[in-house]
Amino acid sequence: MEVSMDFETLKAAEAQYVLPTYGRNDIFLDHGQGARVWDSNGREYIDLTSGIGVLSLGQNHPALSAALQKQVEQLLSVSNLFYTEPMVQAASLLVPASGMKKVFFANSGAEANEGAIKCARKYAADHYGPNRYKILTLVNSFHGRTIATLEATGQDHFHQNFFPFTNGFDYVEANNIEDLKAKADENTAAIMVELIQGESGVRPLDPEFVKAIEELCHEKDILFIDDEVQTGMGRTGRLFAYQNYGVHPDIVTMAKGLGGGVPIGGFLVNEKTEGVLGKGDHGSTFGGNPLSAKAAQVVLETILADGFLEDVERKGTLLQDLLKEIKSPDVLDVRGLGLMVGIQVPAEKVADYMKEIMDRGVLVLKAGTDTIRLLPPLVITDDDLKEAASIMKEVFEA
Ligand code: PLP
Repeated sequence: MEVSMDFETLKAAEAQYVLPTYGRNDIFLDHGQGARVWDSNGREYIDLTSGIGVLSLGQNHPALSAALQKQVEQLLSVSNLFYTEPMVQAASLLVPASGMKKVFFANSGAEANEGAIKCARKYAADHYGPNRYKILTLVNSFHGRTIATLEATGQDHFHQNFFPFTNGFDYVEANNIEDLKAKADENTAAIMVELIQGESGVRPLDPEFVKAIEELCHEKDILFIDDEVQTGMGRTGRLFAYQNYGVHPDIVTMAKGLGGGVPIGGFLVNEKTEGVLGKGDHGSTFGGNPLSAKAAQVVLETILADGFLEDVERKGTLLQDLLKEIKSPDVLDVRGLGLMVGIQVPAEKVADYMKEIMDRGVLVLKAGTDTIRLLPPLVITDDDLKEAASIMKEVFEA
């Protein structure tokens, strides 16, 4: 494959021209196929990161690549001032499969959550007046990097230097029903949670806690916002993680896997919330544009095909079973759902283990302070999972 810059030139130009907001791995990725990627020297890796849970169908999926190429030539972007077909096709797949009523398309997870917060506040203002604006989120949650979603993120270290925030967020300890009940008062508009806290360490919420949220929301007419930006789109073996938990949120947000690598996000509303936002209340120039919506359409057609999600669930179990066979005192826990898996290790060793695993050709992610996070493409093969798990076993058992 051809790249026009060597790695040293690329790094120098990046340092000169790009804001240094990321700590990058020292790897220059160049091309990919399925769950494999290659660096600029031709070194091959098994990718258990999938662009942080984005590439549901892996790199260069034949149906997705062909549909995008065709869409680029046919119609790229025309704004939401006109009707276009891909957005309606994507919505027609997403809405019935989710059991929700309608969808709004945005571009990213943070934007999806911003829309959900707006929808919840308008619902509360319409029904209870302007003082009911509080959004409860969880300690250690992650909801995005815009000012409102940063505030929704229940981790202080993300907040520093960005004050003042908007008013109206409070944080409940995850899985603490008493704390939840104490903080949900007459000014609470919504409770927003990730059912599996991704960025803070792949931590599934207790089913009893999730049920308690749903019950409390019904009792007090508080909206239940489910942030499925990371857990959605088949990641956990169901289209959305709430389907594993057997609950019915009022608003569901999504992004990451929805476009299979093309930026698109959005939120779904149910019968209670579908009438809240009307003409002029919300919008986005790029939201649901033909290119990204075509990507979502193909992703949805693929993951909703017979047997696909069952296979994700099966592969998730296979991966966890293989990881649980590792005999090392440093593997403190293996947890997750479907193809969203965390390996907890001592915090002081996480960076070294990750480097060693990546040096041996398997790309992995960090979550929280002590967890190696695996989010492989949903189409990863059993053989790739087995090979990656055996490399991690060698590293941990060395
Ligand atoms: N919500 C959750 C649960 C996430 O994991 C993320 C990103 O990691 C976001 C929101 C923000 O998404 P984005 O980076 O697309 O804005």
